Amino acid sequence: MKGQFDLVATQIRVLVQSIRSRLVQMASSQPEAYTTVLMQGSGTFCVESVIGSAIPRGGKLLVLANGAYGKRMAQMAEVLGIATVVLDAGETNPVEVVVLRAKLQEDVAITHVAVVHVETTTGMVNPIAEVAQVAKQFGKTVIVDAMSSFGGVPIDVAALDIDYLISSANKCIQGVPGFGFIVARTQLLQSCKGNARSLSLDLYDQWATMEEGEGKWRFTSPTHTVRAFDQALQELEEEGGVPSRYERYTRNQKTLVAGMERLGFRTLLPQQLQSPIITSFLYPESPVFSFESFYARMKSEGFVIYPGKITAAPTFRIGNIGDVHLADIERLLQGVEVQLFWETK
Ligand SMILES: *Cc1c(COP(=O)(O)O)cnc(C)c1O
Repeated sequence: MKGQFDLVATQIRVLVQSIRSRLVQMASSQPEAYTTVLMQGSGTFCVESVIGSAIPRGGKLLVLANGAYGKRMAQMAEVLGIATVVLDAGETNPVEVVVLRAKLQEDVAITHVAVVHVETTTGMVNPIAEVAQVAKQFGKTVIVDAMSSFGGVPIDVAALDIDYLISSANKCIQGVPGFGFIVARTQLLQSCKGNARSLSLDLYDQWATMEEGEGKWRFTSPTHTVRAFDQALQELEEEGGVPSRYERYTRNQKTLVAGMERLGFRTLLPQQLQSPIITSFLYPESPVFSFESFYARMKSEGFVIYPGKITAAPTFRIGNIGDVHLADIERLLQGVEVQLFWETK
């Protein structure tokens, strides 16, 4: 038994090292300058491990927010007792680089800038290249929550000068939930020892254990999720990598919007702010439209859509990531058309 256990533990470690190296290759055109840490928990745990470990005592975080996930980063910093300033652009505007620049000029205590790449609240793409460029002009460390975009939208952390990029197993990588990962600039992460405000979410310690133990997790490893993630990475590679997946998601999203517009729906965001990940639609004008019954009927057809998450307008959301193809989008549109007929009759 003991021998068998050791064998399994070794296999997982080998797999973890392979996953870590593939993630760095995927994220960075300069893989030698970056490292990856896998972290147990959902995506939020990973973001919290970065916020709590990257910012030293006496540091100050600036959060660019335009939705629930940006606000959540600010909330974390508050809970952890980290000085924070939030620049909230509102739910339907991209984060504002001009405002960022002005704030960095005015408040020299700021050390770190955090931004969400695709704000899943609405489906908005934020201008992370411009944000990183301005933050770097002022010598700040850049943290990007790329939870719902990494693996589905091309991102090069080296070219963009991003220091910490966070994502998870179960979004565009199409694995199962259970852990997330952080791609970090190695030199910066090395300086984070002792920063953590949490024992289990200590990003530095998690990294040091994985490095020294060659793929060892500090605490119980999510073994099944690791195996599923390895399979998901293989499938991503077989699909042709991130550029091919990006094309498929984009095609899905464009077909979805064209079809929904044909049925009389309007999107919340203009196309130039829209990601290929998830789309917010305004409720139709019809006074008898009920989202609850629309949702229930779509679900009975096999399609789970999302309620809206903003206060600015009544919306619902349709995601198109995962193993979703054009035929699925066409079936969904047929389903919507049938439901709409009943809803508005
Ligand atoms: C999904 C998501 C998260 C993390 O959510 P969890 O429910 O903790 O996995 C964080 N940020 C963004 C932008 C997300 O889309």
